[in-house]
Amino acid sequence: MRFDGKAAVVTGAGRGIGRATAECFAEEGAGVVLFGWHADVLEETAAAIRAKGGRCEVVVGDVAKREDVQRSIQTCSEKFGRHDFMVANAGIADFVPFLDGTDEAWEQQIGIDLKGTWLSVQESARQMVKEGHGGSIVIVSSTNAFQPEQEGVFYNTSKSGQVAVMHTAAMELAKYGIRVNGIAPGIINTRLSWFVINDPVQSKIFLDRTPMGRFAEPVEIAKPILYLCSDDASFHTGDFMVVDGGYSVGLPVPNTLDEPLVPGGVR
Ligand code: NAD
Repeated sequence: MRFDGKAAVVTGAGRGIGRATAECFAEEGAGVVLFGWHADVLEETAAAIRAKGGRCEVVVGDVAKREDVQRSIQTCSEKFGRHDFMVANAGIADFVPFLDGTDEAWEQQIGIDLKGTWLSVQESARQMVKEGHGGSIVIVSSTNAFQPEQEGVFYNTSKSGQVAVMHTAAMELAKYGIRVNGIAPGIINTRLSWFVINDPVQSKIFLDRTPMGRFAEPVEIAKPILYLCSDDASFHTGDFMVVDGGYSVGLPVPNTLDEPLVPGGVR
């Protein structure tokens, strides 16, 4: 199997994209630390992995707290003998009109998605350098990093900031054999996106401009994450992989006339 003898930390592994990523790692032989702040869903993920013969450990904590992130990485090295992969995935989505945003909401979103990512990447890389075998880190950002949504000032800012963390880390960590990449999912069928998927007006707006005409399942993000961690991606670093069914390619403007929009083209 691709990841036999290797070990990963996945943040936000109790649900959604994190859970699918942890399950895929375990199916391919890796030991996985399931890190997150809801013990119940982490234990459910662990039970599903163990039922299939996979290896995992649960660490409950807050990705915005350095000591909790350190504990997840220490657990990885202690229980599985090494730390090869970090998937910085934990996140929240707080959407609010620009004029109504509060300091508390800013600090919460930026604390979890942006500071939490920086802590996860830094602590992970420190351990990889100490162990001396390199590794691969994937940050789960969003298409919001480059295509912001209205009322998403906190989310848009944290997601574009993650790309800056990724690019900077990629430059500085390559000399240690550590690759750092990002993923930009479109709309994925998870709890975080239910407010879009379950709203007929919002979901239509997104689906109308997604060439593939559907939302994705979490495993469709997990597999590209595993690719970026694998040796098949040995020359990928500082890369931002968009996985969105074509959503961000452009704005579809259908021709509603009965004749060509510009007969013969513009000359
Ligand atoms: P989700 O809500 O299903 O899962 C998020 C997980 O993060 C949860 O298990 C939650 O407990 C955990 N978490 C939240 N705050 C935490 C903290 N402070 N410490 C530790 N764990 C914490 O959502 P998801 O859709 O799987 O989101 C995963 C990532 O994917 C997020 O970073 C999100 O921004 C990104 N993303 C999601 C979508 C989408 O459409 N679902 C699109 C683009 C990007």
